[in-house]
Amino acid sequence: DYLQARAGGRPARLTVLAGPTAVGKGTVSTYIRENYPDVSLSVSATTRKPRPGEVDGVHYYFVSDAEFDRMIAENEMLEWAIVHNSYRYGTPRGPIDAALAEGKRVLLEIDLQGARSVRAVMPEALLVFLLPPTWAELVRRLTGRGTEDAAEQQRRLETARVELAAQDEFDAKVVNTEVSEAAREVVELMAVPGA
Ligand code: 5GP
Repeated sequence: DYLQARAGGRPARLTVLAGPTAVGKGTVSTYIRENYPDVSLSVSATTRKPRPGEVDGVHYYFVSDAEFDRMIAENEMLEWAIVHNSYRYGTPRGPIDAALAEGKRVLLEIDLQGARSVRAVMPEALLVFLLPPTWAELVRRLTGRGTEDAAEQQRRLETARVELAAQDEFDAKVVNTEVSEAAREVVELMAVPGA
């Protein structure tokens, strides 16, 4: 049918949402978490420190370097990557396997390296690329967030430029002009359970 066709004919139980830094992946995935309770959002582990308002176990599992090492060593990560040349981020495998076994739709909000790793180990996953309306808007969002210093903003803009060039590796693209609309499009791309 239409949804299956848009998903390239694949069952889209596991969906990866990636896209350039500051495009609003976090905002879109938060919107999905709060408004589409039947979609399971993967909670990543990271070695970076929590920002104000971030809750351990909800937005991330905030772990030490030693704990991250242990998770890798014990094969608990579906994928992991060093993002923006600084901290490590990884997707715990257990909760995803459990959710998929229950027939739930799972959404991963990860970076481009992570998306490529998932494609390699789970070729049936649906890869969705979130696009900014324009490059100028992406720059505005990145500099307006105010959580990073100027050098870090510069690093992230450079990363974003490289990441935008990868959009054609993805199965589908969603433009993030309005958060609720982008979220609805992402969820529509995920095949219904049991389909
Ligand atoms: P932030 O520090 O702003 O929360 O996230 C920085 C970047 O890390 C974002 O691009 C986000 O998509 C990415 N990220 C978050 N969790 C994971 C993960 O589990 N694996 C990978 N590869 N990237 C992740």
